[in-house]
Amino acid sequence: MTEIHPIALGTVRVFLLKGERNILVDAGNPGDDGKMVRKLSALGFRPEDISLIIITHGHQDHFGSADRMREITGAPVMMHANDAFSIAEGKNQSAAPRTLAAKIYMRLIKGRLSKFTPFEPDIVIDKEISLHEYGVEGKIIHTPGHTSGSISIHLDDGTCIVGDMLMGRRPAYPMFVSDIGTLRHSIRRILSLNPRLIYASHGGPYIPADVEKLLLR
Ligand SMILES: [Zn+2]
Ligand SMILES: [Zn+2]
Repeated sequence: MTEIHPIALGTVRVFLLKGERNILVDAGNPGDDGKMVRKLSALGFRPEDISLIIITHGHQDHFGSADRMREITGAPVMMHANDAFSIAEGKNQSAAPRTLAAKIYMRLIKGRLSKFTPFEPDIVIDKEISLHEYGVEGKIIHTPGHTSGSISIHLDDGTCIVGDMLMGRRPAYPMFVSDIGTLRHSIRRILSLNPRLIYASHGGPYIPADVEKLLLR
């Protein structure tokens, strides 16, 4: 049985998965490392208790402190190949604004994006992998659409963590998408797993019935 501990870091949420060993899912914005370590400690976890850091996709609110957390924990960082390439060049993985609000938001943050050092993960994946060898009962599946290298975690107990595949108070498509058809296909894939509950990075958790309604719109 895996325990899920969501950790709020302002605009984004990361997750600590506690199984036989512990996995950190996502690593917040640049500069979030201190806050993350404090919040982990409040939950009873020391940095060295973490066996793996999984980055759901190549946006800097998810991998921004990955290099610092790698140093602090000694754990390797894992990402999908499609997004690893862009951040190794110092660029956020591309995703187009889907709404007018997203376009305005993008203009506002433009100057602040790209201010990160190129980063290379230790383990680059391009297929489904089991997390059992990292001490957590679950697996990683490729769920592109928000970005082409977006991944989700499917725990054996039926819980899913989907990064930015869905966001908002009620489940909605993300503000930025690389391909809406692919995104909808990935959402259907997650629903086909009969998830118990769906955790996301900006909002949620969601129940599958509400996510199904989103696909009907
Ligand atoms: Zn994102
Ligand atoms: Zn995000």
